[in-house]
Amino acid sequence: MSTTSKIVKGPDTVEASRTTSRPEIVDIVAEVIADVRQNGDTAVRRWSQKFDGWSPESFRLGPDRIASVVSSVPGTVLDDLRFVQRQVRGFAQAQRDSLTDFEVETLPGVFLGQRNIPISAAGAYVPGGRYPLTASAHMTVLTAKVAGVGRVAATTPPDRGAPPPVSIAAMHLAGADEIYVMGGVQAVAALALGTETISAVDMLAGPGNAYVAEAKRQLFGEVGIDLFAGPTEVLIVADETADPFVVATDLLSQAEHGPDSPAVLITTSEEVATRTIACVEELLPGLPTGEVAGRAWRDRGEVIVVPDLDAAYELADQYASEHVQILTAEPREALHRMRNYGALFLGDKTCVPYGDKVIGTNHVLPTLGAARYTGGLWVGKYLKTVTYQEIQDATSSAELGEVCGRASRIENFEGHARSGDVRSARYGSARLDW
Ligand code: NAD
Repeated sequence: MSTTSKIVKGPDTVEASRTTSRPEIVDIVAEVIADVRQNGDTAVRRWSQKFDGWSPESFRLGPDRIASVVSSVPGTVLDDLRFVQRQVRGFAQAQRDSLTDFEVETLPGVFLGQRNIPISAAGAYVPGGRYPLTASAHMTVLTAKVAGVGRVAATTPPDRGAPPPVSIAAMHLAGADEIYVMGGVQAVAALALGTETISAVDMLAGPGNAYVAEAKRQLFGEVGIDLFAGPTEVLIVADETADPFVVATDLLSQAEHGPDSPAVLITTSEEVATRTIACVEELLPGLPTGEVAGRAWRDRGEVIVVPDLDAAYELADQYASEHVQILTAEPREALHRMRNYGALFLGDKTCVPYGDKVIGTNHVLPTLGAARYTGGLWVGKYLKTVTYQEIQDATSSAELGEVCGRASRIENFEGHARSGDVRSARYGSARLDW
């Protein structure tokens, strides 16, 4: 952090503001995964009963149950779901269209190509412990379907002892092939490892709390994962033109996700800093989720005053926050100045909740600094970018065979070398001397 920055609220290093998985979370997640691996459905039921008080006859909803749950959702809500899904589908389709397969001829008769192949089966985790995060169904299920994934198995925790109707409707409208009502580590492990009644998937996507994120981390390798999309984060870069009321409202919009959600303000204006802090305190008592948001703000809220926007962008890049909102006179400038963020929200006419709920970009985004090396969930995460090669010209094959022989022998790979030798003998004039 720059020596000229002033920390009005929060820890004094960027690293200290990040949480990592706590040891007790690592341990319980490992225990649940090991149990599901060994005992399948029985273990899923045991942990579901323990953590969610949920032990239905079947975790999977059949077509009749889905139809009756969907029919319980008011028409206006279904219309809104369809509206949002059109936005998400439209943007995902544009992403799909931007990915083209190609083939190039790199030497005479040597063709190298690249194809994008959808994975066969994906698991979609739609969170629901604290709130039924319906919008995650659009983000995970629809995006997989636009990518061409054949089987999408979607799951969400029960909501107070019952399937959450709007999330189930969203999964169904998005085209989920299987819908389960189970949450947390046991759901992630069941989809990743398979049980007697649930077929394993090839890849798991979706956000979740610290347990869900840790479960994905521990299972990565056995199953593909989208990214580490843990507890939500927001960072706002503001100059003197920002309205503290808007800044405070937008910080709290993300702090309400949970007490472990960081909300950071970096501003060039001391006045915006102090007035935002005052505004947050004024708004909290009237916010129905103020208890959670207040804890997040107290424990994870940060306000830093920097000398200029250069320092603001530089510091924001160090945070590599999930959501970065730019409330400055020239917000678009941040597009060219910043490198590390999950999603960027430019100007005060948009806000992070638009991205969360309605605008169409994907809201499953990297947290805990993962934005240093990855973006969020998108169509490409459901595609395997694979390559192929074909040599149609004998002379090129013989020439490559000679180079391959020499290159392999430098590394003492005689077996590799001989595969090259065979081609240079068959298609060229070389003789085999082994
Ligand atoms: P969740 O579905 O992620 O987790 C609920 C499950 O956690 C429960 O079903 C339960 O089985 C399990 N659980 C609860 N207590 C446990 C314990 N002590 N031990 C083991 N398992 C336990 O729902 P949530 O809790 O509401 O969390 C949703 C999270 O998703 C929030 O943190 C939110 O910020 C985050 N989120 C992130 C993004 C992103 O893109 N990064 C997007 C949306 C939401």
